[in-house]
Amino acid sequence: MTDHTRDTLYIDGTWAVPAGTATLTLTNPYTERPIGTVPAGTAEDVDRAARAAARALPGWSALPWTERVAYCARIADGLKARVAEIAAVATAEMGAPYVFSVLVQAGFGVADFASVADVAPRVEWRREQGNSVLTRRAAGVVGAITPWNYPLHQVTAKTAAALAAGCTVVLKPAELTPGVAYVLAEVMADAGLPPGVFNLVTGTGPDVGEAIVTHPLMDMVSFTGSTRAGRRVAELAAAAPKRTALELGGKSASVLLDDLAGDAFAGAVAATLTGCLNNSGQTCSATTRLVLPRARVDEAAEILAGLAAATVLGDPADPATQQGPLVSAAQRDRVRGHITAALADGARLVAGGPEQPAGLPTGYFVKPTVLVAEAGSRIEQEEVFGPVLTVVPYDGGDDAALAVAEGTPYGLAGAVWAADADRAAAFAGRMRAGQISVNGGVVNPTAPFGGYGQSGYGREMGADGIEEFTAVTAVQF
Ligand code: NAD
Repeated sequence: MTDHTRDTLYIDGTWAVPAGTATLTLTNPYTERPIGTVPAGTAEDVDRAARAAARALPGWSALPWTERVAYCARIADGLKARVAEIAAVATAEMGAPYVFSVLVQAGFGVADFASVADVAPRVEWRREQGNSVLTRRAAGVVGAITPWNYPLHQVTAKTAAALAAGCTVVLKPAELTPGVAYVLAEVMADAGLPPGVFNLVTGTGPDVGEAIVTHPLMDMVSFTGSTRAGRRVAELAAAAPKRTALELGGKSASVLLDDLAGDAFAGAVAATLTGCLNNSGQTCSATTRLVLPRARVDEAAEILAGLAAATVLGDPADPATQQGPLVSAAQRDRVRGHITAALADGARLVAGGPEQPAGLPTGYFVKPTVLVAEAGSRIEQEEVFGPVLTVVPYDGGDDAALAVAEGTPYGLAGAVWAADADRAAAFAGRMRAGQISVNGGVVNPTAPFGGYGQSGYGREMGADGIEEFTAVTAVQF
């Protein structure tokens, strides 16, 4: 088995020995065995990284943006050359099927850096207004704190945009999945990125994360993770105050309007399930609620039961596997707890359930689970972050569907399906979510991503994602 141990941090362009000796253990969620350790960094490590980033800022932010974009293109090439390795690391650390890891875990990371060349020219770097010249300038030193579910993409979505904007970065990746961030640091070094522009400090949220948020040299914090931790980050940042961007949780609805029939209906049901189960349901924008007319619930349940039962669970390294384990025992237990609580609340079980799947004695698996539950119930309201789809009936027309879709505190993503495309587009126009798919419209890596409500604020990706890391200065003549 490959040893994933790393014993250094990346600070000021060098592989730095951490100030302390504590480590974090990495576990393969399929074998349930340890696969290595990384340093549990400290506030002292964050301080060294923050100073390096602050020293690098004037030079980096003064480069023409086209030069920074050229660095991003080199980094994209470097990541592309190492896709197989990145996918293997992600699969070992968080359990996504290897095929999915190649396409998404690694592929999105490459796309985040590659797309900078497309979107950076669309940033309004300079414009004139009256007697003023307005320029977009780097927000400063950025602290980036990321989750484990898309260990490379969550990092690159922030880092590519921040570097393009002229910011320097101190990254703390999730403690469960730091491996790909090390590969990224190696790629940055190979691309000749000046020392201090990108720094990596591994460690826990309370130690390294909070040290980043409260460090006086950190101008901005870009956080992706749970609403609970996001709230803490915003509270700590408010004391300075300093700028934050928060990408948090979701409970996204896929809404089927009442004119859908036949294959289109079945296709929408299937796509919603796929959008829920991908990455073992550990996707913030997963379509975890299938909202449809009450009269169509049984028809959908029959389709879903068949598809869920046919999903192939197993070793994520096996190309035949469609769903791997969840990231950790704690996450598996949380998800099973949600299912058990839903059943106790009166939800109807259509497929799956809280037990370990047959034939898989080890691995943090949760069966693909489908429940029918009423709007307002706990399982319909709370983010599960596992392979659990809730079918939610509505009574009435499009307004009733919209009320259910918007009936949670979140507003990250959504989908709408209708036979009448204009009706679907009109529905999307009224939906309060940051990303909406109409009749299966696919993810666009150059479009901004982010939320409303408790899904957070700020946008990643696209020109808006770069602008997030800038501030405007007006000079009057
Ligand atoms: P988490 O909030 O526990 O951890 C996320 C990161 O924050 C980790 O690096 C963690 O170490 C750090 N952290 C934790 N406590 C902290 C603190 N007090 N101060 C500073 N940093 C702290 O989330 P998770 O369990 O890793 O990820 C799952 C959550 O992330 C889900 O709720 C999911 O919806 C959300 N998520 C959101 C998006 C999005 O773009 N909106 C994307 C992916 C995941």
